[in-house]
Amino acid sequence: MVSTDCLIIGGGLAGTAVSFALSRHGLRSVIIDKIGIAAEGSGNPAGLAVADSGRSAEVDPRDTRGFEVLSDVIGLHQRGGYLAGAVYGDVVQFPVTPRLAERCLVGAVSATHLSQLTAARCLSDGLVCRGITVDPSDLCRAHVFCSGAGVVIGEVVSLSLRNGKWRALNRHGEILGEAPVVCIANGAAAMAIPLTGWLKLERVRGQVVIVRASVKGLPEIPVCFDGYVLPIPAGGHLIGADYDHISVDTRVHPGISSALIRRMNKWLEVSIPSEAIRSGRVAFRTSTHDRLPYVGAVPDYWDFRARVDSALKARRPVAACEALLGDLSYLPNCFVSVGHGSRGLLSAHYAAELLTPKILAVCGTGRDDAQPADTMLEPRRLMVRMMRDLRRARS
Ligand SMILES: Cc1cc2nc3c(=O)[nH]c(=O)nc-3n(C[C@H](O)[C@H](O)[C@H](O)COP(=O)(O)OP(=O)(O)OC[C@H]3O[C@@H](n4cnc5c(N)ncnc54)[C@H](O)[C@@H]3O)c2cc1C
Repeated sequence: MVSTDCLIIGGGLAGTAVSFALSRHGLRSVIIDKIGIAAEGSGNPAGLAVADSGRSAEVDPRDTRGFEVLSDVIGLHQRGGYLAGAVYGDVVQFPVTPRLAERCLVGAVSATHLSQLTAARCLSDGLVCRGITVDPSDLCRAHVFCSGAGVVIGEVVSLSLRNGKWRALNRHGEILGEAPVVCIANGAAAMAIPLTGWLKLERVRGQVVIVRASVKGLPEIPVCFDGYVLPIPAGGHLIGADYDHISVDTRVHPGISSALIRRMNKWLEVSIPSEAIRSGRVAFRTSTHDRLPYVGAVPDYWDFRARVDSALKARRPVAACEALLGDLSYLPNCFVSVGHGSRGLLSAHYAAELLTPKILAVCGTGRDDAQPADTMLEPRRLMVRMMRDLRRARS
């Protein structure tokens, strides 16, 4: 059994980003993963990190936060040279919407200019914004290397608190690790751990396809719209990705690969033959009811349920329920970072930065000043929703 400052369950982008962020403040961590580092969602050979697209940009009122996080990711590369294979550059996005352009501090450009930039035939005007292509598994390994975190291979099925320390247990009841603080970062599998089993998380299947370098006319810089095409360092392009909320099939389907290629052919007016497919990969994203990750301290669900049940029987149930939220109890020193959906390359780093002062505070080496994003991202927001649903169901 290993002992450390913080146990991290899950060795994907979310978990390894926490280990890296903690190490910058002198805290040690051990990552426990059932398969290995970047084995699941974070294992694609390339991913697109765009500071300004999607709801992740909305979590911080300053709006420029995504750019800062992106700079940190680039900084990690520059410090260690770990992402040697990364392709840096601008990202082209279609189509232009005034809202996006305004929010994202990006430049709108003409189709002709875009065609020159990308070396592909672009049919409509677009945006050029700051972004990079990264190998997510390289990034996870860089986090582990730079943080000096220990890695234990094992499947955590439960967590228990003994004498002020969290113990991670496997299905045989063996202790895989022990620490005063625990951070649950195992994607949708957090629902299988009793303490976080109440979180609403959905697995969304995604398939990507890699085409050979010989295909002519594909862009030299990352392009995204309805899917994306990324030049990859090993040569060739990664074309992604599809979304399937229903399927749990882990096999690569040739039919889906062909559909991804067809979409790209139509969209960029290129002609990628099906023989150009080199390989494909299937992985699962973890999505939440409002498409924002759950980041923060884990509320004590069973205490909440018992109290909400009695509040609903009170003479003034609405007031009694509302009072509950102001007085929510939390599991001691237990945190979570899951539900990063399709934007883990940036949101996992941002989540790690939000969690770090909280973890430092419980370790007695720092102060936790509340951040504006806390209330938007904490799992507590689900309690509010659950309470409303229960009240509605009982009335
Ligand atoms: C096809 C596809 C394309 C994507 N493209 C992009 C992109 O271009 N840009 C972008 O930003 N994001 C992209 N994403 C999303 C990104 O990959 C995820 O947001 C990110 O990988 C989530 O990281 P995570 O650490 O939360 O989850 P994961 O990487 O899935 O990590 C969870 C880890 O927990 C481990 N685990 C599970 N259960 C247990 C247990 N009981 N005990 C111990 N360990 C356990 C698993 O083995 C796994 O290693 C894409 C996702 C997919 C599927």
